[in-house]
Amino acid sequence: MSPAARRSPRRAARRPSPSRLRLTHFGAAGWSITDGRTVVLLDPYLSRIRFQGRPYGPAEAPAVAGDRRPALGMDDVPVSDTRTIDERIGEAHFVLLSHSHFNHCMDVPYIARRTGATVIGSESTANVARLGGVPEAQILTVRGGEDYALGAVSIRVIPSLHSALSGKHYFQSGTTRRDGPPLHLSEYLEGGTLAYLIRIGGRALLAFGSMNYVEREVEGLRPDVVLVAAAAPRREIHDDTGRLLRALGRPPVVVATHWDVQGLPYGAPQDEALKEADTFVTEVRAVSPRSRVLVPRHFETVTV
Ligand SMILES: [Zn+2]
Repeated sequence: MSPAARRSPRRAARRPSPSRLRLTHFGAAGWSITDGRTVVLLDPYLSRIRFQGRPYGPAEAPAVAGDRRPALGMDDVPVSDTRTIDERIGEAHFVLLSHSHFNHCMDVPYIARRTGATVIGSESTANVARLGGVPEAQILTVRGGEDYALGAVSIRVIPSLHSALSGKHYFQSGTTRRDGPPLHLSEYLEGGTLAYLIRIGGRALLAFGSMNYVEREVEGLRPDVVLVAAAAPRREIHDDTGRLLRALGRPPVVVATHWDVQGLPYGAPQDEALKEADTFVTEVRAVSPRSRVLVPRHFETVTV
C-alpha cells in the first residue's frame, strides 16, 4: 500500500488492489517482470559471451575453470545462445531496451521473433531488431519523453545516460545500421540511453540499465520499485546512489541490477562483483534506511 493510500482509506477503497510483481534476474541488466498477466522483459541478455576488448571488456577475457567457450573480440559476430533463452524465457509481451550495446541488445531479435513481443527502444535498438528479422509491426522506436498506453500496462520513456566508462572518457555517437550482414560486437552502438517507468499491476517500477541518470528527468517520480545499475562505474558519478534515491522520494524497494561480471558464464563465482554490490547496499541503507534492498542472483525471482 502506498503511503497516500494508508492515509486515506476512502481513496484506497476506490483503487484496485495492486498485484504482486515477480522479478526474475537474468544477469547483466536483464529481467523479466510480470504481474501474472503481462510479461515485460528488460535488456534480456542471456548469451553471456566470453568477450575481450576495450572499451566494454577487459584486455583479456575472464577465465574460469571448465569454461571452454572461445573468447570473442570486438570484430567477431556473436551468436545468441538460443538453448538458454528457450529454457529461461517463455511468453513475453514487451521487450524494453536501455541501449543497444551487445550485452543488452544482441538477444533481442531472437527473443522478439520467437515470442512476438513488441520491442521498445532507441533508433539503434530498432535497427538491431530490424537487421535481426523482427517485423516492423513489432518495433516501437522512442526517443525519451513518451508515455505510452499499451493495454494493461503503460510505459513512460525517460531520457537517461550511459555509464561514464573508462574514467569518464567514454563517448559513443552514431546509430547501429539497419541492414547488411550480421553485426560485429563493435557495431552494437549505444544509440543513446533510456530508462523506463513501467506501470503494471497497479504498481510503478522504474528501471535503469546503465550506471547513470539525468537527475531532473527522474526528480519527483515516486516508483514503488526501482532497479538501479550497481556496478563499480557508478563511482564516477557524484553521489550516485544518494542523489537518485532522494530524487525518487526514497522508494520502498531498491533492487540492484547490472552488478555482475558479464564475460563469466552462468554459475561462475561472482565474489568480487558481489563485494562491490555490498557497497551499493550500504549506500542505499545510508540514504534510505527504510527501503527494502535486494541483490538478486542469476535466475533468482523476487516478489515485490
Ligand atoms: Zn553499454
